[in-house]
Amino acid sequence: MAEHTLLDDALIRLDEAAAHLSIDPDVIEKLKFARETTKVRLMIRMDDGSRKSFLAWRCRYDDTRGPTKGGIRFHPASTAEEVETLAFWMTFKCAVMNLPYGGGKGAVQVDPRTLSKAELERLSRAYIQAFARIIGPDRDIPAPDVYTNSMIMGWMADEYAQIVGQHEPAVITGKPISLGGSLGRGDATARGGYYLVRHLSSDLELVQTMRVAIQGFGNAGQNIGRLLAADGHKIVAVSDSEGAVYSGAGLHVDLLLDAKANGKPVSSTVGTSGHEKIGPDELVAVDCDLLVPAALENMIHDGNAASVKAKLVLELANGPVTPEADEILARQGTVVLPDILANAGGVTVSYFEWVQNRQGFYWPLEDIHDRLKTIMEREGREVWNVSREKQVTMRTAAYVHALGRLAEAIEAHGTQS
Ligand code: GLU
Repeated sequence: MAEHTLLDDALIRLDEAAAHLSIDPDVIEKLKFARETTKVRLMIRMDDGSRKSFLAWRCRYDDTRGPTKGGIRFHPASTAEEVETLAFWMTFKCAVMNLPYGGGKGAVQVDPRTLSKAELERLSRAYIQAFARIIGPDRDIPAPDVYTNSMIMGWMADEYAQIVGQHEPAVITGKPISLGGSLGRGDATARGGYYLVRHLSSDLELVQTMRVAIQGFGNAGQNIGRLLAADGHKIVAVSDSEGAVYSGAGLHVDLLLDAKANGKPVSSTVGTSGHEKIGPDELVAVDCDLLVPAALENMIHDGNAASVKAKLVLELANGPVTPEADEILARQGTVVLPDILANAGGVTVSYFEWVQNRQGFYWPLEDIHDRLKTIMEREGREVWNVSREKQVTMRTAAYVHALGRLAEAIEAHGTQS
């Protein structure tokens, strides 16, 4: 049997959802393919004077519900197909949350850790030079993703402003506050997931003090660790790309955050405060109540899903659980709060940033948190209700919820688009 691709796997979820709705086949046909994917080769000057080229993409998957929205990833393993799949997920994520956006995504095939700051800036600016005609505040709005951050968004916003000859902050979100970024965008992905778990805690019969394992300790992983630890939950295991640490008594989260802030891996804390080293593969199998995949795709698969002991999985990464693993987890009675809902806090606060940029009126942090909480709880409850009514997993319910909205918009556009 031919290997199935990441996009094939993603489309399985579309078919599953369609089986629960009476949907015009035209709708499914439209959502099966990316509308446009542009590939370029970015050439930059390295610090040593040599030239180097990098593959880069921007995909606008579907813009039925509004301008396409989604991050830009800098990763050595990025491919066109990964970008399209991530853009497909953004389409459904924005629909789940009822944001007035379609789905997009971009990537540069690069390991940014091998670049100097000046090289990184040149690469970020080159990306915008290449895609300035594709992006725009009413067309396609990038944001941060894996290994990109507010500093990079700031350079990109600046490059775009130079090209179009005027300030256009709404073209990109996740910017530094000083350039029109929103308060609360920094921890929004984790905070959205945190509000969701809190809201569903009695429905999910969660224990008062949860034991939590976090896979990936970047923006989402660090912030969920901080938020849950502040509520008294015990973070028992954490991993990053270089290793994993464990403490049955609970890890010292501040120590881990300090290590990361100083550019050190989580394993650099081994030996202090009872932190023990474990293998990165052991993390998903740790005895805990909540497992938070916050790294990359396909981390929980048919080879390790049966070892998961957590009763709840909060997907802060995009696509961390394969369809085969989904089935194994469902059989074990493990509930998965799916990416297109669980990590949608990031794009939701991106939407707030875009709204603030367009009105030129900036909201206090309290308003951001309140509005994020309201939307997470509202859509989380809707998805929960669909899952109860139709007796399906939270993932299928989230897709059903989103597909209903997408289908309505596709039909409302008429037959000419
Ligand atoms: N990269 C984030 C995601 O996957 C945020 C996207 C955005 O804010 O547009 O949801």
